[in-house]
Formats: sequence, structure tokens, C-alpha cells
Amino acid sequence: MEAAPPVFAFGVIADIQYADADDGYDFGGCRRRYYRQSLKLLRDAVDAWAAERPPLAFVLQLGDSIDGLNARRGTAERALEQVLAELGRLPVPVHHTWGNHDFYNFSRARLVHTGLNSRPTGAMSSSPVADCQAYHFSPSPRFRIIVLDAYDLSILGREPDSPRYQESLQLLQENNPNDNLNSPTGLEEPQFVEFNGGFSQVQLDWFNEVLKFSDENQEKVVVMGHLPIHPDASDRVCLAWNYKDALSVIHSHQCVVCFLAGHLHDGGYCLDSHGVHHLTLEGVIETPPESNAFGTIYVYEDKMILKGRGRISDRVMHF
Ligand code: ZN
Repeated sequence: MEAAPPVFAFGVIADIQYADADDGYDFGGCRRRYYRQSLKLLRDAVDAWAAERPPLAFVLQLGDSIDGLNARRGTAERALEQVLAELGRLPVPVHHTWGNHDFYNFSRARLVHTGLNSRPTGAMSSSPVADCQAYHFSPSPRFRIIVLDAYDLSILGREPDSPRYQESLQLLQENNPNDNLNSPTGLEEPQFVEFNGGFSQVQLDWFNEVLKFSDENQEKVVVMGHLPIHPDASDRVCLAWNYKDALSVIHSHQCVVCFLAGHLHDGGYCLDSHGVHHLTLEGVIETPPESNAFGTIYVYEDKMILKGRGRISDRVMHF
């Protein structure tokens, strides 16, 4: 580790997908999913983070906190309680982004009233859309964290008679003629599937304004969202619908140094043409109980050092 202490440090974890259920497999039938054990892996992560000295500044939970299985079993509230109880042992704030599995269990209207709503109450730092989990905060002078809502455009979690649902369904069907909207078969842009979503223009405009402020104030910005937005840090199916729009907002500014995502359980990484690091974290749910998948990121003036545990590799990301 470095001689000089980091400016601050934070924890990262993705795709816990907890359910009190026996092991199963992903939809392809080949990846084992350790539903019950994922809570133990979260507990190990929380223990490690709580022991960090100096203490962490916060933890980022990258979405899909509980598995969609809970919805069918009527165990969603209980499973979420258990996940939040583990995270609640941390003496630092936890910032949540929302993923498809969160919406399989809860409507957007319900999520706002759960512990997964980490959006601050002051309206200044939040997206202008009331139920959009997009906000920013500054953990230290000259640094900013932005939480994005990659399911702002989505047919998950919204009432079918709402305008945003209808708009999202239209966009999805225009790009996906399959009967099964979860199937990417034959698509030119295979990310247009029901289990993904996108960013509304309102959110992108808000995002652009925040980045403008950060540019003007010479801040370094880390952005997080459930869905990856760079094809080299993801497979083509797991990207946000309009990932190109989010990328072009980022690339029209100097301040963004890193984009953190989950969703793709194998993880991914690239340094893009504009010097932005895209880190997609390996998912807890497909991690064997004897291993783990979480990390601690130590932030310096000129770099971030990721110390990964289990399936997540160590990495140095220079600005
Ligand atoms: Zn997901």
C-alpha cells in the first residue's frame, strides 16, 4: 500500500441477489447461483469493511440486492430486511442503485419507501424526477459521486398505464420484435431486452448539468449505475438501452474518472478512449461460498486503487 494515506476509501459490492433458497442456475442453465450463501458473503464483506482503519467513507451497493425468486415465494420483504440488516451493521452510509431484480420484487413506488432509497431528502442534489434514484454527493472536496438510475426508462417497476411505461414499451418494441422481450435473438442492438433499461432525457440533462458543475469546480467524478455503459466492459446484451447517450454526456466533460456497474456477473473492465475507467463488478450471487466478490477502493489525488476480494482482482486506475 501507498506511503501517503488515501483521500478517502469506499466499499463496492454488486448483485447480491439473496433468497432463502437452495442453489440454482442462471437462465442459461450453466452458472450456479448460491442464493442462500450470498447473505453469508455479504456478512463477510461487511465484517471486512467495518474493520478498515481509517474507516471507510461509504459503501456503494450496485443493485439486484435480492433475487427475483423472492417475488414468487412471497419472501421479498423478509429477504430485503435481512440484506439491509447486514448492511446496517456498517457505521457508514450505504448508497444503493436499483437493478432489475429489485423491480421483480418491488414496484418503483414501493422501493422509494424501503431502505434501498438512499436518495437524500434535499432536492438540490437529486434528479428532477421524483421516483428516479439519481443523485450526487461530495465525499471530500474536489470529488463527487453520482448515482444513476438505469431503469428510469423501463417496463419494470412501473404501472402499465403510466406514460413512462408506455414510452418505454414503445422504445423496447421498436428495437425488439421478439415475442419474448427478454430474448436478444436476432437483434441488431441486443441490449434492447426487458431485463435492461435506460436513461430518460430528463435524467441525462440533469447528469449533464452536474458534470458541468464538476468541470467548473475541477472535481473528479465517479459514476455508478446498475447497467454497464461501455461495450468493452460488458457483453453486448447487458448494456443499458441508450448507453451511447450516457457515454456521450460523460465524454463531453473532463471530470468523470470512473464508471462503476454490476448486472454482468462475470465482471468486466476497460479504459475508454477518453481516459474513463469502466469497472463492472463480479456478482456475489454466482460466487462460491468459499470465495467472495467485493472490493475496497482507495482514492488518491491521481488514482484509485481497487483491492478486490475473492473473484474481484486488484487494480490501479490512474486519472
Ligand atoms: Zn441486474
